[in-house]
Amino acid sequence: MNSVVIGSGFGGIAAALRLKAKGHEVTLIEKHPDLGGRARVFKKNGFIYDGGPTVITAPYLINELFELFKKNPKDYIELSPLKIWYQFIFEDKTKFNYSGDEDEMKRQIEKISKDDVEGYKKLVNFTKKIFDKGFTELADVPFDKPFVMMQQLPALLKLKSYKSVYSLVSSYIKNEKLRRMFSMHPLLVGGNPFTTTSIYGLILYLEKKWGIHYSMGGTGNIIKGFEKLMDEEEIEVIKGHEVTKIISDKRKITGVQLNDQTIINCNNVICNADPPAVYEKMLNGNANNSFLFKWKKNRMEYSMGLFVYYFGTKKKYENIEHHTIKFGNKYKEHLDDIFDNKKLNDDISYYLHRPSSTDKSMAPEGNDCFYVLVPVPNNQSNIDWSLEGEKMKNLVIDKMQNDLMPNLKENIVEDFYLTPDYFEKDLNTKHGSGFSIQPKFSQSAYFRFHNKSEVYDGLYFVGAGTHPGAGVPGVLSSAKVLDKII
Ligand SMILES: Cc1cc2nc3c(=O)[nH]c(=O)nc-3n(C[C@H](O)[C@H](O)[C@H](O)COP(=O)(O)OP(=O)(O)OC[C@H]3O[C@@H](n4cnc5c(N)ncnc54)[C@H](O)[C@@H]3O)c2cc1C
Repeated sequence: MNSVVIGSGFGGIAAALRLKAKGHEVTLIEKHPDLGGRARVFKKNGFIYDGGPTVITAPYLINELFELFKKNPKDYIELSPLKIWYQFIFEDKTKFNYSGDEDEMKRQIEKISKDDVEGYKKLVNFTKKIFDKGFTELADVPFDKPFVMMQQLPALLKLKSYKSVYSLVSSYIKNEKLRRMFSMHPLLVGGNPFTTTSIYGLILYLEKKWGIHYSMGGTGNIIKGFEKLMDEEEIEVIKGHEVTKIISDKRKITGVQLNDQTIINCNNVICNADPPAVYEKMLNGNANNSFLFKWKKNRMEYSMGLFVYYFGTKKKYENIEHHTIKFGNKYKEHLDDIFDNKKLNDDISYYLHRPSSTDKSMAPEGNDCFYVLVPVPNNQSNIDWSLEGEKMKNLVIDKMQNDLMPNLKENIVEDFYLTPDYFEKDLNTKHGSGFSIQPKFSQSAYFRFHNKSEVYDGLYFVGAGTHPGAGVPGVLSSAKVLDKII
């Protein structure tokens, strides 16, 4: 059996390894000269910037891939648990150190709102139920048949999946600060907490179950470890080549064509590339798509875009935790602007990553390495990032300087940023969305792009746009679905 995997994100690499372990001849093709997709690494003047994922959860999903080949993950990667998972900072400058220490969590909740301690306990218990169903039971189930979805509907309704995450959290928690804090998880996978199905409340519990980890040397070291493993297991990796066409004989996939016109014949093509872009650009237009599939594809709503500013400082900001989330003043209004009105808004919330607080190797001695991520509208907005990019950069520097990092401007020694244009043009993602399609109920499980194509034989999907969805645990789970259907 010959299988070609298009794309080397976490999902694509996991698919390549799982198929190899099943005895397939596997070729992985990546457009860029380096692997990782959203998890690519940018190295500049002694600073090491992880491009994307920084919060590592459910580490067993990473370890499993080494164990498939009877290898010890510790010989390839080093995952280290963090004590403080996120430091939340509110507009009035109050802080909350979010962690797995339940006594400490309750003490801090009590300080903000005594009444909510009991509600918090109940919320955690409820998210465990969602986790047991939505993650343990269903994350690696192939949702390619309507009856599989029908079978699950009663349980999903019982778990209130018709509610949004914010609404679920608000049914247990009264204080607005705490509501924001406990409902922010959809943002980590590209969803609006006010519209994302409450099934994604499972992330709250998933973090508690295995903790939050950091990969020493950066997330890029996990990709490096996988690359070594793929080499040892003789997976052919072709870098710096884009697949321009997936070839089919009517509905049967027969191979792929690269940008240098090379044709590779195969039995299966597994796309880690964004499903809507694959269907629209790499296959035979809409020719083979049924009316129903066209309708499904056209009504999809896309996740937010991301503005990510990477910077190094010549001094160390020891007061900054590894992961900081700073909420702006208005929350719902801001999210409405991002997701619905598709316009920029100065009242930004942001996530700040400081890997050098845990790992000195990420920056030259005496320096600090950061990225700050600002959710912005995706490219359906028609924002001209060649004009707005610099303004957004200055806005976020000003905010960070006022909120947390005195004299930041004069301490930045080098920087660059990525906008939704990078996600659209470089990563081939429709509308430059940060996380493919949104995690709404109407776009989850059977309603998402299927792992086994609903249009072509021999075509499969792994990664953020298919089941179960975005985030490293999600895309690694999508490769486990593949294991069951190829
Ligand atoms: C800034 C940022 C921060 C994040 N933080 C976290 C976090 O802390 N924790 C977490 O769990 N998740 C996080 N995420 C989400 C997570 O990174 C992604 O959901 C996940 O990495 C996506 O993996 P994927 O398998 O879908 O592939 P992707 O990473 O999207 O990779 C797809 C690959 O396909 C390649 N490709 C596309 N088209 C072609 C073609 N035609 N030919 C060849 N190659 C092609 C692309 O070049 C790319 O390498 C973050 C995402 C971003 C952007």
